[in-house]
Amino acid sequence: MHVLIVGSGISGLRLADLLSNTDITFDIIEARNRIGGRILTETPSVDNYFDLGPTWFWPEKEPKIVQLIEELNLSTIEQYNEGQSLLELNDNKPVKYIKSSEVNSYCKRIEGGIKALVEALYQRIPTINIDFNTCAKAIKQNDNQTFTVTAVNKCTEEERTYDVDAVIFTLPPRLLFENIDFTPMLPETVKIDLLNKPTWMGAQAKAIVTYDQPFWRMDELSGNVISWQGPLREIYDVTTPNGDSALFGFFGLAPSYRNKETLASIEDKVINQLVRLFGEQARSYKNFYYKDWSQDDNTVTQGDTLNIESFPTYGQPPAYLDNIFFAGTEYDANNGGHLEGALASAEHAFNNIKKVDLAKEK
Ligand SMILES: Cc1cc2nc3c(=O)[nH]c(=O)nc-3n(C[C@H](O)[C@H](O)[C@H](O)COP(=O)(O)OP(=O)(O)OC[C@H]3O[C@@H](n4cnc5c(N)ncnc54)[C@H](O)[C@@H]3O)c2cc1C
Repeated sequence: MHVLIVGSGISGLRLADLLSNTDITFDIIEARNRIGGRILTETPSVDNYFDLGPTWFWPEKEPKIVQLIEELNLSTIEQYNEGQSLLELNDNKPVKYIKSSEVNSYCKRIEGGIKALVEALYQRIPTINIDFNTCAKAIKQNDNQTFTVTAVNKCTEEERTYDVDAVIFTLPPRLLFENIDFTPMLPETVKIDLLNKPTWMGAQAKAIVTYDQPFWRMDELSGNVISWQGPLREIYDVTTPNGDSALFGFFGLAPSYRNKETLASIEDKVINQLVRLFGEQARSYKNFYYKDWSQDDNTVTQGDTLNIESFPTYGQPPAYLDNIFFAGTEYDANNGGHLEGALASAEHAFNNIKKVDLAKEK
């Protein structure tokens, strides 16, 4: 059996990893020019790594990622959560001090950034071959029950087809709905289901500010902040043990507002907020990193640029065709949104492919 995996985020790579231990062969196509998808780490040097996508995993509730990290022999860093945290309301009153445990629960980061996880995973797949810059556009079921996927190379604009026995789509559901033509057409129930699964963090942007010293720690502050004044809504310490100190934040500013601002003005607003919260030392920063996911068309659709008000219902869509599989974090009912959910969805798809392969052999 020969399979096409569409997407090389953590779910696509984990699928490749699992398939590489079977007789099932596979190709991977990836719209970007890199692996990782939403995993994006700035690495100005070996000791400095700052995650602009996912940062944490939660060891007490996420066994799959814990096991993978162990297997890949990666080192981890406990999230700094000592000292007090700050709560800034929109009431012109002084900032309040709150317990750090109220802001962040026990979680960890990976040395080298989350990028280290996908790079190590990629390294251990012996037969991996990824066609980068290759964007799936259409899938057609052929009379002999095989499938032809048509993809376009983003650089050369050349079209290419892949004839395979099965396809695993790992892109976010709304992107799948908008960008891929299905023949036969997706049933209405599947379309509605895909549209009802917003891309996790699709409306978010992240800013990271680096410093020589974690000066907030000297004032017995954790670096954690909840702010209703913004522009950052949540702030955390992401100091690297042997490199720079750093604070990162998620934005409270909506995508429509952010998109009207220049990068310089966003940077200015973020630094002014950090000065307001942590004092003048916050003005002497080293680097500012910024990533707005709401503008990334390999992750989001127009509909994702609205902030998610409540936690979405994630899980598998209704049945379509036996040899078409859906993996990716939004397809996991238990940990959808997180890296753990992406890994679980990959295992789920893998188990189903094995069943189809077994049935084919009989
Ligand atoms: C700002 C931010 C912070 C986050 N923080 C955390 C955190 O701290 N902890 C945590 O557990 N999770 C966090 N997450 C969520 C985490 O990043 C995701 O759960 C996980 O990375 C999703 O992986 P995936 O493989 O399912 O999807 P993706 O990473 O989105 O992979 C899909 C892949 O498909 C590719 N693709 C798209 N369209 C096509 C096409 N037409 N043809 C070919 N390829 C295509 C994409 O380029 C991408 O590589 C965060 C996410 C963001 C954005």
